[in-house]
Parts: sequence; C-alpha cells; structure tokens
Amino acid sequence: MQHQLMPLSFEPTALEPQISAETLSYHHGKHHAGYVNKLNSLIPGTEYENMTLEQIIKSASGPIFNNAAQVFNHDFYWKGLSPNATSPSAELAELLERDFGSLYAFQEAFLTAAAGHFGSGWTWLVITPEGKLEIRTTPNADTPLRGNETPLLTCDVWEHAYYIDYRNGRPDYLAQWWERINWNFVSDNLASVTNDPIAGYNQPCIRNDEVCDYVDAMQENERTPS
Ligand code: MN
Repeated sequence: MQHQLMPLSFEPTALEPQISAETLSYHHGKHHAGYVNKLNSLIPGTEYENMTLEQIIKSASGPIFNNAAQVFNHDFYWKGLSPNATSPSAELAELLERDFGSLYAFQEAFLTAAAGHFGSGWTWLVITPEGKLEIRTTPNADTPLRGNETPLLTCDVWEHAYYIDYRNGRPDYLAQWWERINWNFVSDNLASVTNDPIAGYNQPCIRNDEVCDYVDAMQENERTPS
C-alpha cells in the first residue's frame, strides 16, 4: 500500500505572516514528503506492507515506526492549523478551564512545555482514558497514538518547523503558531472522543474503531437532508 502525502487544505501563503510560504514549502514539500517517501521505500516485502498508518505505528519499531509516526504527526499538525480565526467549542473551553484553570493558563503551560522540550519532538494536548486533558511532550517521532491517550492538538518543535522564519527562536515561533491554531479541529477531536457528534463535529475521525464509525455515520446522517 502506497502512503500518500496529505495535501494541505490551504494555500502556501495562507498562514503568513506567522508561518511563511517558504517554511511551508520546505516543511510540507520536503520534510513531510520525505517521511512519506521513506516509509513507502521501507515497507515492501515486510509485514507492514498492507497495514494502515495507525496499524504500523502501533506495531512497528525502528525506521519504519519513525517514518510512519512522522507522517501521522505531520498530518495532525497541518490539520491543527488554520488561515482563519477560530475558537474552542463550548465543550472544549469548559474542559480547558476545568483542567488548566483558563484558556490563558493552558496557553502558558503548553507553550512553556513546548519551549522547554529538549531537542526534536512534539508537544501535545491529549485526553486521557479518564477524560482529563493533559499536556505531553514526545521526543523525535514518538506519538501518543502508541499509548491509550487520544491526541487533540500538536505542535511540531523540530527545528525545521521554525528555522527559516525564526532561526533559533523557538519561543517566538510558538507564540506565532498559537495564533494559527485550528480550534475547530481540536474541538472536533474532543467531540469524537466524548462521543458527542452533535457538538459540531466536521472532521474525519482519526481512529479506526466503532466510535469513529458511529460518529461518521451520525455526521453522514446530519449531512443528508431527510
Ligand atoms: Mn516537522
């Protein structure tokens, strides 16, 4: 099975000035594409050849895991960015306030964790199986998909995500990245987990299980005029 580079849903200049078209062209067109191509070159003839990305991530190790996870992580990163101003759903805002104190306190905690992460990796907002929102950082290609927590949002803190625009200024990049968060995506991910499809869910479910099948069916039902 050939894995594909996820096309971006916005124009190359759409995230400017926070993220330049030049950064987008390298980050998506070179780095992200590189992981896709590498993955496709590694899997023929292995047990991973016909697995979905998620299945590979949950079972592989070494270079196959690294490249598959980087494909997923980048897909998730791009979906979490928007050219338009968005805001958290009421449900998400309520949970952020409950678990961090306020949206601002969450922002501070998330950006501090991202700025303090040593070396390459990712910072995540996840929801635990108990329904609590938590901030996680993962090194290199590592991803919450490996465990039992569900990612809602991620920020790429690899240097290639910001070096063209901000040189070594990771905190500057993080502050600007915050302005481009696609809160619709984050809210929709939460709605898919809390099994509340009526709460404005409009993105494809990221997990291949019964809950997602159900959510997708509900969405289809909503889209289809009766
Ligand atoms: Mn990256």
